[in-house]
Amino acid sequence: MKQLDMNTVVQIFILIRWVCTVVLLFLWVKYGKRYQGIRDMAVSFAISAIALILFLFADQLSSFAGIALPNILVLFGICTFGIGVLTFAEATVHKKEMFAYLAFFTIVIIYFTYSRFSVRYIMLLSSGFTMPVYAYIAWRLRWRTTAFYRAFTMGVQGAVSGFAMMHLIRIGWLLYCRPVLNYYGECDDVQSFLFALSQVLTLLLAFAIEHMIVNKRAHEAYNETRTLAIQLEKKEALASTDALTGIYNRRKIESLIRDQHHILMNVGTVFSILLIDVDHFKNVNDRYGHTAGDAVLRHLSHCIRDNIRGFDDVGRWGGEEFLVLLPNAALDEARKTAERLRRIVSESAYTQLPELTLTISIGVIEANRMMSIDETLKSVDKMLYSAKANGRNSVFSGSAEMAASVSGVE
Ligand code: GH3
Ligand code: MG
Ligand code: MG
Repeated sequence: MKQLDMNTVVQIFILIRWVCTVVLLFLWVKYGKRYQGIRDMAVSFAISAIALILFLFADQLSSFAGIALPNILVLFGICTFGIGVLTFAEATVHKKEMFAYLAFFTIVIIYFTYSRFSVRYIMLLSSGFTMPVYAYIAWRLRWRTTAFYRAFTMGVQGAVSGFAMMHLIRIGWLLYCRPVLNYYGECDDVQSFLFALSQVLTLLLAFAIEHMIVNKRAHEAYNETRTLAIQLEKKEALASTDALTGIYNRRKIESLIRDQHHILMNVGTVFSILLIDVDHFKNVNDRYGHTAGDAVLRHLSHCIRDNIRGFDDVGRWGGEEFLVLLPNAALDEARKTAERLRRIVSESAYTQLPELTLTISIGVIEANRMMSIDETLKSVDKMLYSAKANGRNSVFSGSAEMAASVSGVE
C-alpha cells in the first residue's frame, strides 16, 4: 500500500469536516427549532476541524497547542457529537459524566505530553479514551432509545460503531506491533489504512446524520398528514350526520341524491326516493314530552336504517320526516320497500312506550331523466301528501306525471 503523506491526509480531513459542519448548520437553520441536538452535531464537526488544524501545524506550535490541545479537542468534539445525537434521539445523556471524563483525559494527556512524551502513548491514550465514547453513543442509540429513533439512527449507529472498531484496531496495533512513530512525519501502512478508514467513516457519518434528520421530518410530515386526514374525515362525518338520530342529515342526503341524479342522467341507472313522515307526531310530544319524542325519532331512524339494503341511504329530511334513497331501484321495488317499512313500523312495538301506536306515511317516486332534482323532490312530497290524505299509515307511489295529476296539491 502506498504510504500517505500525513499533511495531505489531515488537510482532506479538515475539508471534509468543514463541509459536514456547513451541511449540518444548514440543517440546523432548517430544522433547529423543531429538533434539538443538530447544532451540537454541527459544532462537533467544527471542533474536530479546529483540532486537525492544530495537528497540521503541530511542528510550529508549543507542545500544549500542538499535541495536548488537539487531542483534547478531538475528544471534546466526539462528546459534543454524542450529546447532540442522543438529544436528537431523545435519549438521556450523561453530560456531567462525559465532561468529567473529558477533564480526566485532559489531565492525563497533559501529563503524558510534558512528562512521558511518546507518539505511541499519545495515540494509545487518544484511542483508548475515544473508543469508549463511540461505544457509549452506539449503545445508547441502539438500546436506550424508542423503536422510532432506533430505526432512524441505524446509519449513525453503524458509523459510530465503525469508529469504535477502528479505534479498537488502532489500540491493538499500537499495543502488539509497537510501531515506531513520528508525530510530524509520514504514516506507515497500518496508519494510512486507519486514516483512510476514518475518512470513509466520517463521510458515512455525515450522510447518516443527514438521512436521520430528513427521514425523521418525512416521517413526521407523513404522520401529520394522516392525522389531518383523519380529523378531516371526522369533521366531514360530523358535518353530514344528524345530531339527534345519527343518520345522515339533509345536506348529506341531498348531495347523495345529486350523485344519483348525475348517474341517472349520464348512465341511465334509475333510482327511487321514499319520503317518510311520522303520523300525528305532535301527539307523541304532547303526550309524552319532547325528550320522549326525540327517543321515538331515534328509534324510527334506526328502524328504517336496519330495514333497507346496505347500499340504500337514509337521512333526516326535517323534524319528523325521513328520506330514503334507493339507488338502482325502480318504482315497483321502491314501493315494496316502502310497504315493508310501513308494516314493520306499525306492527312492531316501541319497547320504551309499549302503549304507543306508531305509524308512518310514505310517498314513493322513481326519478326519471325528464325531471330535475327539485321536481323529483316536489313530486315525492305530493305523493306523501296523498298518502296522508289517504288516511295515513299508507304508501302512495307514482311517477312524476302522476304526481302532477294529484288533485289539489301544489
Ligand atoms: P301528520 O300526521 O300530519 O304528519 O301530523 P304531525 O303531528 O306529525 O305533523 P306536524 O307537522 O303538525 O307536526 C310535526 C311535529 O314534529 C311538530 C314538532 O313539534 C315535532 N318535531 C319536529 N322536530 C322534532 C324533534 O326534533 N323532536 C321532537 N321531539 N319533536 C319534533
Ligand atoms: Mg311533518
Ligand atoms: Mg308528521
